Amino acid sequence: MSLRNQFLQHIAQTSNAPIGLEMVKAEGIYIHDADGKAYLDMISGFSVANIGHSHPKVVVAVQQQAAQYMHLIVYGEYIQQPQVAYAKMLTELLPASLNCVYFTNSGAEATEGAMKLAKRVTNRTKMIGFNKAYHGSTQGALSMIGDEYFRNAYRPLLPGITHVDYNSQAAINAIDSTTACVIMETVQAESGIVQPDPNWIKAIRQQCDKHCVLLILDEIQAGFGRTGSLWAFEQYGIVPDILLLGKALGGGMPLGAFIADRKLMATLTENPVLGHITTFGGHPVSCAAGKAGLEVLLEDNYIAEVAAKEQILLQYIQHPAIVARRASGLWMAVEFDSFATNHAIIKKCIAKGLITDWFLFNDRSMRIAPPLIITETELTNMCKLIVQAIEEVANA
Ligand code: PLP
Repeated sequence: MSLRNQFLQHIAQTSNAPIGLEMVKAEGIYIHDADGKAYLDMISGFSVANIGHSHPKVVVAVQQQAAQYMHLIVYGEYIQQPQVAYAKMLTELLPASLNCVYFTNSGAEATEGAMKLAKRVTNRTKMIGFNKAYHGSTQGALSMIGDEYFRNAYRPLLPGITHVDYNSQAAINAIDSTTACVIMETVQAESGIVQPDPNWIKAIRQQCDKHCVLLILDEIQAGFGRTGSLWAFEQYGIVPDILLLGKALGGGMPLGAFIADRKLMATLTENPVLGHITTFGGHPVSCAAGKAGLEVLLEDNYIAEVAAKEQILLQYIQHPAIVARRASGLWMAVEFDSFATNHAIIKKCIAKGLITDWFLFNDRSMRIAPPLIITETELTNMCKLIVQAIEEVANA
């Protein structure tokens, strides 16, 4: 049986239309298939590969740590240098109130942990989430996501959650002294790159302060330089009470985190003890990989180049068939008149060696999120290929 058929038979399928290419190697901005074709990864594994695939320094860190030790015990018992060193590095790069890291396996687990923490800290249970927001697929995170189609089949979900529109006055009005937390993406990813109005997000922060409500910012996709600053919230002059990280956090290895003040985190240690437990969260190999990846991102100054690269996207991604463009750093949604048009263009892009797709809650928009290490020349060539694909579909 071909590997493709074995894949269809033995790997649980999450859709009827997987990309379904057999990939055999990934390096830098490229992924190579079994036929030897190279694809430029315009998705970066959904903002995981911000420094490209299998960066040599990350590979060495993984090899060294795997040879030293891998998993030893459940989270939080032994002192493990890779966890401590990475937590120290992350907190030194964050505002003083974000000084304590809880490492998880995934982004969804970070969301879960933060939701539990908000309940413990505030002694409240009501939470506010946003329409078209994505925070993960486990049941707590699923309860928070902003799309009825994805939620409905799994009811009953968590009670007490209100969904409001991003950038709306209703969101501010919904926050009161019975609210435990507001969970939002600093820049909404799966709605098709939607940025917050700077005054609106500040008003959300103020309303949370007024009613002692925790503001949880999800930067699982927006973090690690994607939007042009290390953390997206830096651009809006606000600081969350809890920050959610994942994706690029692990340098290509699985890792998530929720980060808060030590005083808040202390509520997880008593009554009950072990307020959040995880076996593999903060895996030492993932922490070593993540730290090596973050060092590369910072030392090679990739974030400083993001603004110029965003301008290249804006300059070259132009065509009458495009109905809207939304960009935040090296992250762009290109919207067409219909899913059918978008789908046809995406298929053309893949045929031309550019891997892309649509957004979970916006299927008329194409995703452009290449690794931040892409050079300006590579980016310009990529843009020209995209415009060619658009032109070919428009003229078909
Ligand atoms: N939050 C955001 C903004 C995401 O994009 C994702 C994943 O796509 C998650 C949370 C969940 O992360 P994970 O898939 O690691 O559980």
